[in-house]
Amino acid sequence: MSTLSSLAADPLPWNGHRLAAQLVASGPTRVWHSAFEEDLVAEIPTSTPADVAAAAQRTRAAQQDWAERPVADRQRVLLDFHDAVLDHREALTDLLQYEGGKARLSAAEEVLHLAMTARYYGRTARELLHDRRGRGLLPLLTRIDERLVPKGLVGIIAPWNYPLSPTISDGLAALVAGNGVLLKPDLQTPYVALAAVDLLHEVGLPPDLWTVVYGSGQRVGAELIGQVDYLCFTGSTATGRIVAQQCAERLIGCSLELGGKNPLLVLDDADVERAAAGAVRACFGNAGQLCVSTERIFVAERLRARFTAAFVAKTKALRLGRRLDYDADMGGLVTTDQLNRVRAHVEDAREKGAEVLTGGRARPDLGPLVYEPTVLSGVSEEMDCFAEETFGPVVSIFGVGSDAEAVAGANDSAYGLNASVWTSDPERGRRVAARLRCGTVNVNEAYGATFGSIDAPMGGMKSSGLGRRQGPEGLLRFVESQAIGTQSLIPLAPSLGLSPGTFVAGFTGVLRVLKAVRRA
Ligand code: NAD
Repeated sequence: MSTLSSLAADPLPWNGHRLAAQLVASGPTRVWHSAFEEDLVAEIPTSTPADVAAAAQRTRAAQQDWAERPVADRQRVLLDFHDAVLDHREALTDLLQYEGGKARLSAAEEVLHLAMTARYYGRTARELLHDRRGRGLLPLLTRIDERLVPKGLVGIIAPWNYPLSPTISDGLAALVAGNGVLLKPDLQTPYVALAAVDLLHEVGLPPDLWTVVYGSGQRVGAELIGQVDYLCFTGSTATGRIVAQQCAERLIGCSLELGGKNPLLVLDDADVERAAAGAVRACFGNAGQLCVSTERIFVAERLRARFTAAFVAKTKALRLGRRLDYDADMGGLVTTDQLNRVRAHVEDAREKGAEVLTGGRARPDLGPLVYEPTVLSGVSEEMDCFAEETFGPVVSIFGVGSDAEAVAGANDSAYGLNASVWTSDPERGRRVAARLRCGTVNVNEAYGATFGSIDAPMGGMKSSGLGRRQGPEGLLRFVESQAIGTQSLIPLAPSLGLSPGTFVAGFTGVLRVLKAVRRA
């Protein structure tokens, strides 16, 4: 069996001692299994409650100095990290593949997204965090200064499907805002997170400012929530509800990036070939284990037959397998549980009358957790995959008679994360987008136009979450505003011998004047 110190050895630039140095864990070891290579296993120590408390204490201590540093210093770390991520792109991509089993292109996209996020906050933080002069109660006499102060210790609980982005990306926004970070990666994906934290330290992040703990959600995750000042959670809606209650108990804020049942709309003027190629990316990127990937397609009845034929043909042409190169378009699923969930959704739909247009079976001959990309039609409400997130390479196609019907179908979901609209008229696409109850909508793209534009806020409506990552909001969630008011010359109370009645009458006159001069 490999150990933490031997797993990440040559040809990767990390040796296990460097990875271990980022981890606060003195508990029993856990056996980790690669999703990529069946016989690649490793032992990794887990964190005890005392470890989580110690990590929090160390990071809190380091955060005090960090918050005092000029924002420009903090930005410099992010900009250097950008370069380090690009320099180590291949090794990070390898680690992502070993941990999650994803195809190399999906892994590489994640690495590039991390670098883009580092550059975005590295360039914009000073402007976003600058102090502001507000309008005082009495012009010239009341001065208001608004400061943005870091929350302190930000906790991150991360999923396995994107262990670098959003996980590390969200942490970068927290860091540049002056916080320390305490991270709990998923059980399946500790190494790439540890490697990213190692790189951050290499480019000058002060020791202990970002600590990592490892273990199950129920134990280590709950301990972490007990220690932090704000929680940044990404994962399933079911777990999101649990952690939100724990945050409420402690009266700390949280952002929740949760699940989706994302729709893709093909309007009646769409270019069928382009829409079908986009739908393949939308549905089967990272084998459908992507929060923003499509699981429901609403296609205009007029194009239905042509679109379905083109989409099924392109789906069948996908190259499946586990390869450390770009010669496989789709990798495998992350765990046996995930494979079983996908299989169960497809079998349930098949038994209840859905038609499997392509796919619909596991492919152990291509890799232990490979499942064929699957297109279903005839899916109806009583089937599990109609409304529940499958989180795998399975999509249902529905024909619709009008844009209104497509919008109604798309919005008929407990979720509201991402949508995609295909049309030859972008203006029409944006009008349809505005009627969708989703946090992001991509016109003539699967998800990349919003996800890849770091200035675009990203997050869910309805049961898909609370708060936004990326863009200004992605950073501002990690600060508190503090207002400092300074009163000069006269107090805000009856004085100079005025009776309370005269004071109120005078004040009423002042309010009328302020409105007349159009002051807010
Ligand atoms: P999950 O909810 O099972 O686990 C997510 C994290 O929460 C893991 O680190 C886990 O250990 C931890 N956890 C589990 N129970 C916990 C508890 N009781 N207290 C504290 N922490 C706990 O989700 P998953 O299966 O790892 O991820 C897949 C889900 O994440 C999908 O639903 C997907 O849509 C969603 N997701 C959403 C986004 C987004 O940006 N909206 C991004 C990625 C993934």
